[in-house]
Amino acid sequence: MSKVVVLTGAGGVLCSTMAKAFAQQGHKIAVLDLKKESADKVANDIVSEGGTAIGIASNVLEVESLKLAKQEINEKLGLCDILINGAGGNHPLGTTTNPHLLEEDMDNKIEGFKTFFDLDPAGIKFVFDLNFIGTLLPTQVFAKDMVGRTGCSVLNISSMNAYTPLTKIPAYSAAKAAVSNFTQWLAVHLSKVGVRVNALAPGFFLTEQNRALLTNPDGSLTQRGQQIIDQTPMGRYGKPEDLVSTTLFLCDDNSSFVTGVVIPIDGGFSAYSGV
Ligand code: NAD
Repeated sequence: MSKVVVLTGAGGVLCSTMAKAFAQQGHKIAVLDLKKESADKVANDIVSEGGTAIGIASNVLEVESLKLAKQEINEKLGLCDILINGAGGNHPLGTTTNPHLLEEDMDNKIEGFKTFFDLDPAGIKFVFDLNFIGTLLPTQVFAKDMVGRTGCSVLNISSMNAYTPLTKIPAYSAAKAAVSNFTQWLAVHLSKVGVRVNALAPGFFLTEQNRALLTNPDGSLTQRGQQIIDQTPMGRYGKPEDLVSTTLFLCDDNSSFVTGVVIPIDGGFSAYSGV
């Protein structure tokens, strides 16, 4: 049965791939992104391949913008059946320069050098808002369509950082831990009204938001990029397509008893102790 699938952050690398995969299954797709041109490009790609999609500019941090998007989706496609909360990311202001604090760092006066003690609350808040509030608000707006119907679900995007935080990115790690926790909370809260809530915990995928941290300008891996590969038993980064089968599985009607789970898709990263 054709469903209405709403994806936030779907102009981005991972969720555009999911959007196209849902379209190939015959579903109607609402591609939401802060950047209208990114949303339109993905929607146009889907339409040019024979699918049904609309691109909508929508900010996951502004309820009014989400409500306007919902109104347009309801008019053009119908009630929302599936919501993928894909918008998310990190920010340099929520990131320390080095993985570990050394005593001499306390006197480091280099412009831009940041220890834990220098982290800007505004940067921390930006990252918390984008990942956590940016998951909560779209769910408040779109899951209203799902209450009391069948075959509806929400899929959140957590991260490896939710299990064990990566060095340097405390805000992103804690925000994704909140997303995993919220996934379980909401699964319980909505369990009596027919709405399932699950999450993916992707490992490491090379995208625009982490490329500079993981690769050098010549394409070779940074020290951090190499550390990740060394900690990934499969020895490679994920490809966006690696997320597709689990995404479709979690949102499928045949998964009707699956709710409150967070599934790692990480080439074994979370299973490996490093020894
Ligand atoms: P991406 O940067 O390619 O896509 C994110 C998209 O979100 C962008 O198109 C951006 O315009 C949009 N966006 C940003 N702020 C927004 C806002 N306020 N409202 C609406 N849209 C907004 O990133 P990606 O790698 O495709 O990430 C998708 C999700 O997967 C994110 O939640 C990310 O944290 C998560 N994730 C990524 C990785 C990885 O390795 N890339 C790993 C684990 C989890």
